[in-house]
Amino acid sequence: MHILIIGAGYAGLRTAIELDRRRAAYGEQLEVTLLDQHPYHQLVQELHLAATTAPDPTNVIVPLQTIFQRRAVQVYQGRVQRIEPLARRVRLADGRSLSYDRLLLALGAETNYAHVPGAPQHTLPLRSYEQALRLRDHIAACVEAAARTTDPRLRRILLTFVIVGGGYTGCQVAGELVPHVSTLAATAGIARNELRIALIERNGLLLKQAEPWANAYAQRVFDDLGVRVYLHTTVARVAEQALYTTTNQVFRAGTIIWAAGIRAPALLADSGLATDALGRVRVDRYLRVEEQALIFAAGDCASIPATVDGPIPATASYALRQGEHLAGALLADVQGQAPQPYTPLRLREVVSLGPGAAVGNPLGIPLTGIPAALLKQGIETWYRSTLL
Ligand SMILES: Cc1cc2nc3c(=O)[nH]c(=O)nc-3n(C[C@H](O)[C@H](O)[C@H](O)COP(=O)(O)OP(=O)(O)OC[C@H]3O[C@@H](n4cnc5c(N)ncnc54)[C@H](O)[C@@H]3O)c2cc1C
Repeated sequence: MHILIIGAGYAGLRTAIELDRRRAAYGEQLEVTLLDQHPYHQLVQELHLAATTAPDPTNVIVPLQTIFQRRAVQVYQGRVQRIEPLARRVRLADGRSLSYDRLLLALGAETNYAHVPGAPQHTLPLRSYEQALRLRDHIAACVEAAARTTDPRLRRILLTFVIVGGGYTGCQVAGELVPHVSTLAATAGIARNELRIALIERNGLLLKQAEPWANAYAQRVFDDLGVRVYLHTTVARVAEQALYTTTNQVFRAGTIIWAAGIRAPALLADSGLATDALGRVRVDRYLRVEEQALIFAAGDCASIPATVDGPIPATASYALRQGEHLAGALLADVQGQAPQPYTPLRLREVVSLGPGAAVGNPLGIPLTGIPAALLKQGIETWYRSTLL
Protein backbone atom coordinates (compact mmCIF):
# COMPACT_ATOMS: atom_id res chain seq x y z
CA MET A 1 0.00 0.00 0.00
CA HIS A 2 1.52 3.30 -1.11
CA ILE A 3 0.24 6.55 0.41
CA LEU A 4 1.31 9.61 -1.57
CA ILE A 5 1.02 12.98 0.16
CA ILE A 6 1.36 16.05 -2.03
CA GLY A 7 2.27 19.24 -0.19
CA ALA A 8 4.66 19.36 2.78
CA GLY A 9 2.85 22.22 4.52
CA TYR A 10 1.10 22.16 7.87
CA ALA A 11 -1.47 19.53 6.81
CA GLY A 12 0.60 17.18 4.61
CA LEU A 13 3.68 17.25 6.81
CA ARG A 14 1.62 16.43 9.89
CA THR A 15 0.02 13.43 8.18
CA ALA A 16 3.46 12.13 7.18
CA ILE A 17 4.90 12.62 10.69
CA GLU A 18 1.87 10.98 12.32
CA LEU A 19 1.90 8.02 9.91
CA ASP A 20 5.52 7.48 10.79
CA ARG A 21 4.87 7.84 14.54
CA ARG A 22 2.19 5.17 14.40
CA ARG A 23 4.08 2.90 12.01
CA ALA A 24 4.37 0.07 14.55
CA ALA A 25 0.61 -0.38 14.19
CA TYR A 26 0.74 -0.92 10.43
CA GLY A 27 4.06 -2.68 9.90
CA GLU A 28 6.33 -2.74 6.92
CA GLN A 29 3.73 -3.11 4.19
CA LEU A 30 2.94 0.60 4.17
CA GLU A 31 5.00 2.97 2.04
CA VAL A 32 4.62 6.73 2.59
CA THR A 33 5.91 9.35 0.12
CA LEU A 34 5.81 13.08 0.76
CA LEU A 35 6.14 15.24 -2.36
CA ASP A 36 6.69 18.99 -2.46
CA GLN A 37 7.95 21.49 -5.00
CA HIS A 38 10.48 22.72 -2.42
CA PRO A 39 13.12 20.79 -0.48
CA TYR A 40 11.90 22.49 2.71
CA HIS A 41 8.84 23.00 4.91
CA GLN A 42 7.77 26.64 5.07
CA LEU A 43 6.49 28.08 8.33
CA VAL A 44 3.91 30.10 6.45
CA GLN A 45 2.49 31.62 9.61
CA GLU A 46 5.84 33.32 10.20
CA LEU A 47 6.31 34.70 6.66
CA HIS A 48 5.43 38.25 7.73
CA LEU A 49 8.46 38.08 10.04
CA ALA A 50 10.75 36.76 7.28
CA ALA A 51 9.60 39.64 5.06
CA THR A 52 10.38 42.24 7.74
CA THR A 53 11.83 42.10 11.25
CA ALA A 54 13.30 38.57 11.43
CA PRO A 55 17.09 38.87 11.92
CA ASP A 56 17.53 35.71 9.86
CA PRO A 57 14.72 35.07 7.33
CA THR A 58 16.00 31.55 6.61
CA ASN A 59 14.58 30.59 10.03
CA VAL A 60 11.13 30.22 8.49
CA ILE A 61 12.12 27.18 6.45
CA VAL A 62 13.15 23.75 7.71
CA PRO A 63 14.78 21.27 5.28
CA LEU A 64 12.60 18.19 4.73
CA GLN A 65 15.75 16.06 4.93
CA THR A 66 16.26 17.28 8.51
CA ILE A 67 12.67 16.54 9.48
CA PHE A 68 12.67 13.07 7.92
CA GLN A 69 16.24 11.89 8.50
CA ARG A 70 15.08 9.48 11.21
CA ARG A 71 11.58 8.84 9.88
CA ALA A 72 10.41 6.13 7.49
CA VAL A 73 8.97 8.52 4.92
CA GLN A 74 10.32 8.97 1.42
CA VAL A 75 10.76 12.63 0.51
CA TYR A 76 10.45 13.58 -3.13
CA GLN A 77 10.93 16.98 -4.73
CA GLY A 78 8.82 17.96 -7.74
CA ARG A 79 6.00 20.21 -8.86
CA VAL A 80 2.67 18.51 -9.46
CA GLN A 81 1.02 19.51 -12.71
CA ARG A 82 -1.91 17.15 -12.93
CA ILE A 83 -3.70 14.43 -11.01
CA GLU A 84 -5.00 11.46 -12.96
CA PRO A 85 -7.49 9.67 -10.65
CA LEU A 86 -8.40 6.94 -13.15
CA ALA A 87 -4.75 5.96 -13.59
CA ARG A 88 -4.03 6.56 -9.84
CA ARG A 89 -1.12 8.72 -10.92
CA VAL A 90 0.26 12.21 -10.33
CA ARG A 91 2.10 13.93 -13.18
CA LEU A 92 4.97 16.31 -12.44
CA ALA A 93 6.02 19.38 -14.41
CA ASP A 94 9.34 17.76 -15.39
CA GLY A 95 7.58 14.80 -17.04
CA ARG A 96 8.01 12.30 -14.20
CA SER A 97 4.99 10.66 -12.62
CA LEU A 98 4.22 8.95 -9.31
CA SER A 99 1.54 6.34 -8.72
CA TYR A 100 -0.42 5.79 -5.52
CA ASP A 101 -2.91 3.59 -3.73
CA ARG A 102 -4.17 6.47 -1.58
CA LEU A 103 -3.55 10.15 -2.33
CA LEU A 104 -3.63 13.10 0.06
CA LEU A 105 -3.96 16.55 -1.46
CA ALA A 106 -2.41 19.16 0.83
CA LEU A 107 -1.37 21.82 -1.67
CA GLY A 108 -2.31 24.88 0.38
CA ALA A 109 -3.44 28.06 -1.31
CA GLU A 110 -2.29 30.85 -3.59
CA THR A 111 -3.01 34.56 -3.57
CA ASN A 112 -6.48 35.44 -4.82
CA TYR A 113 -6.42 38.72 -6.72
CA ALA A 114 -10.22 38.54 -7.19
CA HIS A 115 -9.90 39.70 -10.84
CA VAL A 116 -8.77 43.18 -9.74
CA PRO A 117 -7.03 44.61 -12.84
CA GLY A 118 -3.31 45.17 -12.35
CA ALA A 119 -3.16 43.48 -8.94
CA PRO A 120 -1.09 40.44 -10.05
CA GLN A 121 1.42 42.66 -11.87
CA HIS A 122 1.75 45.59 -9.46
CA THR A 123 1.33 44.18 -5.96
CA LEU A 124 3.49 41.88 -3.84
CA PRO A 125 1.95 38.68 -2.44
CA LEU A 126 3.04 36.85 0.73
CA ARG A 127 2.28 33.15 0.53
CA SER A 128 5.73 31.58 0.23
CA TYR A 129 9.28 31.93 1.50
CA GLU A 130 10.47 33.16 -1.91
CA GLN A 131 7.78 35.85 -1.91
CA ALA A 132 8.76 36.88 1.63
CA LEU A 133 12.40 37.35 0.52
CA ARG A 134 11.28 39.31 -2.54
CA LEU A 135 9.15 41.60 -0.37
CA ARG A 136 11.99 42.09 2.12
CA ASP A 137 14.38 43.08 -0.69
CA HIS A 138 11.78 45.34 -2.28
CA ILE A 139 11.13 47.24 0.98
CA ALA A 140 14.86 47.74 1.55
CA ALA A 141 15.34 48.91 -2.05
CA CYS A 142 12.51 51.46 -1.71
CA VAL A 143 13.98 53.00 1.45
CA GLU A 144 17.47 53.13 -0.10
CA ALA A 145 16.12 54.73 -3.31
CA ALA A 146 14.13 57.26 -1.25
CA ALA A 147 17.30 58.27 0.58
CA ARG A 148 19.09 58.80 -2.76
CA THR A 149 16.46 60.61 -4.83
CA THR A 150 16.26 64.37 -5.06
CA ASP A 151 12.68 64.24 -6.36
CA PRO A 152 10.32 64.93 -3.39
CA ARG A 153 7.29 63.35 -5.12
CA LEU A 154 9.18 60.14 -5.81
CA ARG A 155 10.58 60.13 -2.26
CA ARG A 156 7.03 60.36 -0.88
CA ILE A 157 5.87 57.47 -3.08
CA LEU A 158 8.83 55.28 -2.13
CA LEU A 159 8.16 55.89 1.56
CA THR A 160 4.48 54.94 1.27
CA PHE A 161 3.51 51.32 1.99
CA VAL A 162 0.00 50.01 1.40
CA ILE A 163 -1.34 46.68 2.63
CA VAL A 164 -4.55 45.43 1.05
CA GLY A 165 -6.58 43.20 3.39
CA GLY A 166 -7.26 43.73 7.09
CA GLY A 167 -7.58 40.03 7.99
CA TYR A 168 -5.04 37.97 9.95
CA THR A 169 -2.33 38.17 7.31
CA GLY A 170 -2.68 41.90 6.53
CA CYS A 171 -2.76 42.87 10.22
CA GLN A 172 0.27 40.71 11.05
CA VAL A 173 2.19 42.26 8.15
CA ALA A 174 1.23 45.82 9.18
CA GLY A 175 2.34 45.23 12.77
CA GLU A 176 5.84 44.16 11.69
CA LEU A 177 6.18 46.61 8.81
CA VAL A 178 6.09 49.66 11.09
CA PRO A 179 9.15 48.83 13.23
CA HIS A 180 10.95 47.34 10.23
CA VAL A 181 10.69 50.37 7.92
CA SER A 182 11.28 52.71 10.87
CA THR A 183 14.63 51.01 11.52
CA LEU A 184 15.56 51.02 7.81
CA ALA A 185 14.58 54.69 7.54
CA ALA A 186 16.57 55.67 10.63
CA THR A 187 19.65 53.90 9.21
CA ALA A 188 19.19 55.79 5.93
CA GLY A 189 18.78 59.14 7.71
CA ILE A 190 15.05 59.46 6.93
CA ALA A 191 12.72 60.92 9.56
CA ARG A 192 10.01 58.63 10.93
CA ASN A 193 7.28 61.15 10.04
CA GLU A 194 8.06 60.76 6.34
CA LEU A 195 6.85 57.15 6.41
CA ARG A 196 3.24 56.39 5.53
CA ILE A 197 1.73 52.98 6.11
CA ALA A 198 -1.88 52.35 5.09
CA LEU A 199 -4.05 49.29 5.69
CA ILE A 200 -7.02 48.97 3.36
CA GLU A 201 -10.01 46.78 4.24
CA ARG A 202 -13.20 46.26 2.26
CA ASN A 203 -15.30 45.44 5.35
CA GLY A 204 -16.11 47.70 8.27
CA LEU A 205 -13.78 45.85 10.67
CA LEU A 206 -10.20 44.67 11.04
CA LEU A 207 -9.84 40.96 11.88
CA LYS A 208 -13.49 40.41 11.07
CA GLN A 209 -13.35 36.74 12.18
CA ALA A 210 -12.39 37.84 15.71
CA GLU A 211 -14.61 39.16 18.49
CA PRO A 212 -15.53 42.89 18.73
CA TRP A 213 -13.13 43.62 21.59
CA ALA A 214 -10.27 42.14 19.49
CA ASN A 215 -11.26 44.23 16.43
CA ALA A 216 -11.19 47.34 18.63
CA TYR A 217 -7.84 46.37 20.18
CA ALA A 218 -6.23 45.89 16.74
CA GLN A 219 -7.52 49.31 15.67
CA ARG A 220 -6.04 50.91 18.83
CA VAL A 221 -2.65 49.24 18.26
CA PHE A 222 -2.55 50.53 14.68
CA ASP A 223 -3.60 54.03 15.79
CA ASP A 224 -0.68 54.01 18.25
CA LEU A 225 1.72 52.71 15.59
CA GLY A 226 0.60 55.37 13.13
CA VAL A 227 -0.88 52.93 10.61
CA ARG A 228 -3.72 54.63 8.72
CA VAL A 229 -6.62 52.20 8.53
CA TYR A 230 -9.12 52.64 5.68
CA LEU A 231 -12.26 50.57 6.30
CA HIS A 232 -15.12 50.13 3.78
CA THR A 233 -12.52 50.67 1.06
CA THR A 234 -12.52 48.44 -2.00
CA VAL A 235 -9.70 48.30 -4.53
CA ALA A 236 -10.89 48.89 -8.10
CA ARG A 237 -7.56 48.53 -9.92
CA VAL A 238 -3.83 48.77 -9.45
CA ALA A 239 -1.21 50.31 -11.71
CA GLU A 240 2.52 50.84 -11.21
CA GLN A 241 2.95 52.54 -7.81
CA ALA A 242 -0.76 53.48 -7.72
CA LEU A 243 -3.87 51.91 -6.25
CA TYR A 244 -7.35 53.16 -7.16
CA THR A 245 -10.41 52.48 -5.02
CA THR A 246 -14.05 52.19 -6.09
CA THR A 247 -14.68 55.56 -4.41
CA ASN A 248 -11.98 57.22 -6.56
CA GLN A 249 -9.34 57.52 -3.87
CA VAL A 250 -5.80 57.09 -5.17
CA PHE A 251 -2.93 55.72 -3.10
CA ARG A 252 0.48 56.31 -4.64
CA ALA A 253 2.90 53.86 -3.06
CA GLY A 254 6.21 52.21 -3.87
CA THR A 255 5.09 49.05 -2.06
CA ILE A 256 1.61 47.55 -2.36
CA ILE A 257 1.18 44.24 -0.52
CA TRP A 258 -1.77 42.03 -1.46
CA ALA A 259 -3.09 40.12 1.54
CA ALA A 260 -6.75 40.12 0.54
CA GLY A 261 -7.65 36.51 0.03
CA ILE A 262 -6.64 33.05 -1.10
CA ARG A 263 -7.69 30.43 -3.61
CA ALA A 264 -6.58 26.86 -4.22
CA PRO A 265 -4.17 25.89 -7.04
CA ALA A 266 -5.92 25.63 -10.42
CA LEU A 267 -4.52 22.14 -11.02
CA LEU A 268 -7.21 20.66 -8.74
CA ALA A 269 -10.08 21.83 -10.95
CA ASP A 270 -8.00 21.22 -14.09
CA SER A 271 -7.64 17.59 -13.01
CA GLY A 272 -11.43 17.20 -13.05
CA LEU A 273 -11.87 17.06 -9.25
CA ALA A 274 -15.00 18.58 -7.68
CA THR A 275 -14.11 22.11 -6.56
CA ASP A 276 -15.85 25.16 -5.08
CA ALA A 277 -15.79 28.81 -6.22
CA LEU A 278 -12.32 29.25 -4.66
CA GLY A 279 -10.93 26.23 -6.49
CA ARG A 280 -10.81 24.17 -3.27
CA VAL A 281 -11.49 20.49 -3.67
CA ARG A 282 -14.78 19.43 -2.10
CA VAL A 283 -14.50 16.78 0.59
CA ASP A 284 -17.02 14.98 2.82
CA ARG A 285 -16.95 14.72 6.63
CA TYR A 286 -14.22 12.08 6.32
CA LEU A 287 -12.06 14.50 4.29
CA ARG A 288 -12.50 12.21 1.30
CA VAL A 289 -12.75 14.02 -2.02
CA GLU A 290 -16.27 13.91 -3.48
CA GLU A 291 -16.71 11.09 -5.98
CA GLN A 292 -13.17 9.79 -5.30
CA ALA A 293 -12.74 6.68 -3.16
CA LEU A 294 -8.94 6.91 -2.93
CA ILE A 295 -8.26 10.64 -2.67
CA PHE A 296 -8.38 12.77 0.49
CA ALA A 297 -7.69 16.47 1.05
CA ALA A 298 -6.83 18.72 3.99
CA GLY A 299 -5.77 22.28 4.79
CA ASP A 300 -6.32 25.41 2.73
CA CYS A 301 -6.93 23.49 -0.52
CA ALA A 302 -9.89 21.56 0.94
CA SER A 303 -13.50 22.72 1.01
CA ILE A 304 -14.82 21.02 4.14
CA PRO A 305 -18.54 21.03 4.98
CA ALA A 306 -19.37 23.80 7.47
CA THR A 307 -20.56 22.82 10.93
CA VAL A 308 -23.23 24.49 13.09
CA ASP A 309 -20.44 26.83 14.27
CA GLY A 310 -19.85 28.05 10.70
CA PRO A 311 -17.25 27.47 7.96
CA ILE A 312 -13.91 25.83 8.74
CA PRO A 313 -11.22 28.55 8.81
CA ALA A 314 -8.22 28.32 6.49
CA THR A 315 -5.55 28.47 9.18
CA ALA A 316 -2.47 26.48 10.10
CA SER A 317 -4.02 25.28 13.35
CA TYR A 318 -6.95 23.70 11.49
CA ALA A 319 -4.67 22.32 8.75
CA LEU A 320 -2.51 20.63 11.40
CA ARG A 321 -5.45 18.90 13.05
CA GLN A 322 -6.86 17.81 9.70
CA GLY A 323 -3.48 16.34 8.82
CA GLU A 324 -3.38 14.50 12.13
CA HIS A 325 -6.94 13.24 11.67
CA LEU A 326 -6.12 11.95 8.19
CA ALA A 327 -3.21 9.87 9.45
CA GLY A 328 -5.71 7.97 11.63
CA ALA A 329 -8.28 7.80 8.84
CA LEU A 330 -5.72 6.46 6.32
CA LEU A 331 -4.51 3.82 8.78
CA ALA A 332 -8.10 2.77 9.47
CA ASP A 333 -8.68 2.55 5.72
CA VAL A 334 -5.54 0.42 5.23
CA GLN A 335 -6.63 -1.93 8.00
CA GLY A 336 -10.13 -2.24 6.55
CA GLN A 337 -11.75 -0.40 9.46
CA ALA A 338 -14.40 2.32 9.22
CA PRO A 339 -12.82 5.80 9.46
CA GLN A 340 -14.01 8.36 12.00
CA PRO A 341 -15.47 11.62 10.65
CA TYR A 342 -13.42 14.77 11.11
CA THR A 343 -14.91 16.85 13.92
CA PRO A 344 -13.23 20.24 14.07
CA LEU A 345 -12.16 21.41 17.46
CA ARG A 346 -13.15 25.08 17.45
CA LEU A 347 -9.91 26.98 17.83
CA ARG A 348 -9.44 30.65 18.38
CA GLU A 349 -6.37 32.26 16.91
CA VAL A 350 -3.75 34.50 18.44
CA VAL A 351 -2.82 37.20 15.95
CA SER A 352 0.42 39.12 16.28
CA LEU A 353 0.29 42.87 15.73
CA GLY A 354 4.00 43.62 15.84
CA PRO A 355 6.79 43.02 18.36
CA GLY A 356 5.30 42.72 21.85
CA ALA A 357 1.70 43.04 20.66
CA ALA A 358 -0.85 40.37 19.85
CA VAL A 359 -4.51 39.66 20.42
CA GLY A 360 -6.53 36.49 20.85
CA ASN A 361 -8.83 34.40 22.95
CA PRO A 362 -7.23 30.98 22.61
CA LEU A 363 -8.23 29.50 25.96
CA GLY A 364 -11.46 31.41 26.41
CA ILE A 365 -9.52 34.18 28.18
CA PRO A 366 -9.14 37.44 26.25
CA LEU A 367 -5.42 38.19 25.92
CA THR A 368 -3.70 41.27 24.53
CA GLY A 369 -0.25 42.89 24.52
CA ILE A 370 2.81 41.10 25.86
CA PRO A 371 0.99 38.06 27.39
CA ALA A 372 -0.67 37.40 24.03
CA ALA A 373 2.63 37.95 22.17
CA LEU A 374 4.41 35.50 24.50
CA LEU A 375 1.68 32.93 23.97
CA LYS A 376 1.99 33.38 20.20
CA GLN A 377 5.76 32.83 20.40
CA GLY A 378 5.17 29.80 22.63
CA ILE A 379 2.80 28.27 20.06
CA GLU A 380 5.42 28.75 17.33
CA THR A 381 8.21 27.29 19.48
CA TRP A 382 6.01 24.31 20.34
CA TYR A 383 5.22 23.79 16.63
CA ARG A 384 8.93 23.77 15.71
CA SER A 385 9.62 21.24 18.45
CA THR A 386 7.10 18.82 16.89
CA LEU A 387 9.10 18.75 13.63
CA LEU A 388 12.22 17.14 15.08
C1 LIG B 1 1.72 35.76 6.48
C2 LIG B 1 0.78 34.68 6.98
C3 LIG B 1 0.56 34.56 8.35
C4 LIG B 1 -0.29 33.55 8.84
N1 LIG B 1 -0.46 33.44 10.19
C5 LIG B 1 -1.20 32.44 10.69
C6 LIG B 1 -1.34 32.28 12.10
O1 LIG B 1 -0.83 33.07 12.88
N2 LIG B 1 -2.07 31.22 12.55
C7 LIG B 1 -2.64 30.31 11.71
O2 LIG B 1 -3.25 29.34 12.19
N3 LIG B 1 -2.56 30.45 10.36
C8 LIG B 1 -1.85 31.48 9.83
N4 LIG B 1 -1.75 31.64 8.46
C9 LIG B 1 -2.45 30.71 7.57
C10 LIG B 1 -1.67 29.39 7.47
O3 LIG B 1 -0.31 29.62 7.22
C11 LIG B 1 -2.27 28.48 6.40
O4 LIG B 1 -3.63 28.26 6.73
C12 LIG B 1 -1.51 27.16 6.35
O5 LIG B 1 -0.22 27.37 5.82
C13 LIG B 1 -2.27 26.12 5.51
O6 LIG B 1 -1.56 24.91 5.56
P1 LIG B 1 -1.59 23.91 4.33
O7 LIG B 1 -0.89 22.67 4.75
O8 LIG B 1 -2.98 23.78 3.81
O9 LIG B 1 -0.78 24.65 3.18
P2 LIG B 1 0.73 25.20 3.16
O10 LIG B 1 1.29 25.29 4.51
O11 LIG B 1 0.70 26.42 2.32
O12 LIG B 1 1.50 24.03 2.38
C14 LIG B 1 1.23 23.72 1.04
C15 LIG B 1 2.44 23.01 0.47
O13 LIG B 1 2.11 22.54 -0.84
C16 LIG B 1 3.22 22.75 -1.70
N5 LIG B 1 2.71 22.84 -3.07
C17 LIG B 1 1.78 23.71 -3.55
N6 LIG B 1 1.57 23.47 -4.86
C18 LIG B 1 2.37 22.43 -5.21
C19 LIG B 1 2.58 21.73 -6.42
N7 LIG B 1 1.92 22.03 -7.54
N8 LIG B 1 3.46 20.71 -6.42
C20 LIG B 1 4.15 20.37 -5.28
N9 LIG B 1 3.98 21.02 -4.10
C21 LIG B 1 3.10 22.03 -4.07
C22 LIG B 1 3.81 24.05 -1.20
O14 LIG B 1 5.17 24.17 -1.61
C23 LIG B 1 3.64 23.93 0.31
O15 LIG B 1 4.77 23.33 0.90
C24 LIG B 1 -0.94 32.66 7.93
C25 LIG B 1 -0.72 32.80 6.55
C26 LIG B 1 0.12 33.80 6.07
C27 LIG B 1 0.33 33.93 4.58
